[in-house]
Amino acid sequence: MSFPHPPTILKRLGHRSKKSLGQHFLLYPHQARRLAEALDPPEDAVIVEIGGGLGALSRYLAERASSLLVLETDPTLAAFLEKEVFAHHPQVTVLCQDVLLFDFLAFYRKVGSPLQVTGNLPYQITSPVLFKLIEEKAALSQAVLMVQQEVGTRLLASPGSKEYGILTVLLQYHFAVTRLFSLGPANFYPTPRVDSVVLRLAPRQPEPAAVDVKLLARTVKAAFGMRRKTLKNTLVAKAPDFGLTKEQMRGILTDLEIDPSRRGETLTLAQFVLLSNRLAQIRPR
Ligand code: SAM
Repeated sequence: MSFPHPPTILKRLGHRSKKSLGQHFLLYPHQARRLAEALDPPEDAVIVEIGGGLGALSRYLAERASSLLVLETDPTLAAFLEKEVFAHHPQVTVLCQDVLLFDFLAFYRKVGSPLQVTGNLPYQITSPVLFKLIEEKAALSQAVLMVQQEVGTRLLASPGSKEYGILTVLLQYHFAVTRLFSLGPANFYPTPRVDSVVLRLAPRQPEPAAVDVKLLARTVKAAFGMRRKTLKNTLVAKAPDFGLTKEQMRGILTDLEIDPSRRGETLTLAQFVLLSNRLAQIRPR
C-alpha cells in the first residue's frame, strides 16, 4: 500500500477537496505514522477512525489493529477507501457515515471490547465530536485526536485563563487530556490557515465525582453563561432555573467558600463538581 499523494489522487478521482468537510489531508507518511503510533493499542484492539479521507492515517492503523472501522462521510472518499485502499484487508471496514450519527456505544456492545478512537478531525465539528465522546465515554478505552491548536489550548486550559471554558471543564471532568505533539500547516494539503495539535484523551474516574453529570453540565453552562460576568449575574441570577431562590444559591456559594463576585471561569473543576452536588441535594424533586 503506497502512501497517498493527495493532489494526485484527488485529480484522478476528479474530486475537489471540500472545505465544508474540513478536508485537509496529511501529506507526509512520517507524520501519519506518528499519529497512528500515538494510539499504542493492545494487539486485539478495535480502532475507530473518524474521517478516513484518502487513508493516510488509516493504512498505518490497519497494521496495528485486529479490527479497524473507518468512518468517512464523503461518498467519493469512502468508495475510494473501500474499493482501492482496503479491498483486500478483511480486518478493515469502511462506513460512509457521519460520525455525529454513529453509535459508539452500540458498536462497543457489538464488538465486546472498548474502542480506541482516533482521527485527524474535520475541525468544524470538533466540539460536537468531543461532546459526543463525553456522552459515549463508556465505549472508549482512549482517544487520540488531532485538533486545531487553538482548540487544543482551550481543552488543556487552567482555571482563570481566557481559554478556560465549558468544554474545558466538561472534557477534563471525563478525560485526562494530554498534549502529544503539534503540526504546522505545511503538513497538509490543501494548506490550512491554522496549526494543529494531537491530544490524548484517557477516560478517568473523577474525584470528587458528580452525583448527576447532567446537572454538572448545566451548572457549568450556567456559570459560564455570559463570559466576564460574575457568578452573581450568572448562577445567582439563574437560581430559579435550578428550582432555587437567589438567596439559596448565594447560600450554597458561601458555604462552599466561593465568592459570588468571582467569575465562573475562575472556578476549578472540583469546585464545579461540589457546587453541582450541592444543587443536586437541595433542588426540588
Ligand atoms: N484522515 C485523513 C488525513 O489525515 O489525511 C483525512 C483528515 S481530514 C482533516 C477530515 C476527514 O473527515 C475528511 O476526509 C472529511 O471528508 C471527513 N469528514 C468530515 N466530516 C465528517 C463527518 N461528519 N463524519 C465523518 N467524516 C467526516
